[in-house]
Amino acid sequence: MRKIAVFGGTFNPIHNGHIHLAKRFADLLGAEKILVIPTRVPPHKRARGLASASDRLAMCRLAVEGDVRFEVSDLEVRRGGPSYTADTLRELRKRDPDAELYLITGEDMFVTLEQWHEPETIFSLATVCAAPRNSAGSTALLRCAGKLKRKGAVTRIENIAYLPISSTMVRSAVKAGKDISSYVPHAVERYIRENHLYLE
Ligand code: ATP
Ligand code: MG
Repeated sequence: MRKIAVFGGTFNPIHNGHIHLAKRFADLLGAEKILVIPTRVPPHKRARGLASASDRLAMCRLAVEGDVRFEVSDLEVRRGGPSYTADTLRELRKRDPDAELYLITGEDMFVTLEQWHEPETIFSLATVCAAPRNSAGSTALLRCAGKLKRKGAVTRIENIAYLPISSTMVRSAVKAGKDISSYVPHAVERYIRENHLYLE
């Protein structure tokens, strides 16, 4: 069966840690497609320092340009209301009933899965994948995976090397006038500079 890796996030902005995680998981899974889906941020949650949906989408597209496995989707930013992963997976399943869906998450997201909207729907539609987001390895993740399995989830934990990068680090570095070339792809760095993003 065709395997599709589904990777959601705010991507404000997308960075090398995201790309590394998605690529490594796609390799390990043998996924033929990686769907990068920036989430819609509702107006009342729009914090300062959040780039517009179109800027976040544009940076995702630039970041993965040239790698045919990647596809950037505006499915969540186009859909009204909050971006629920359960709704997204339902929609992807409808579009492509024969594909196997794998939801890619980092540790901080994975450990909160039970609090997401309709976790059972998520568990029934996708294998939930996670990798550590610290240098301590996957012990905490494996414990959490055990708990989720008892609730019906199929999980896949991989000890993928962790790149210590976050979007928060990128935004503060830009604001401080520091170099971000080791955090984001060159095209994203250029986009941030040319569009004066994250300066305040
Ligand atoms: P912010 O600092 O604004 O919260 P972020 O770097 O956490 O940004 P998100 O868009 O919030 O990025 O994360 C999207 C997904 O990518 C989440 O599942 C998160 O756990 C994962 N992720 C982000 N950075 C890394 C990283 N360096 N290594 C592994 N997973 C990561
Ligand atoms: Mg985050």
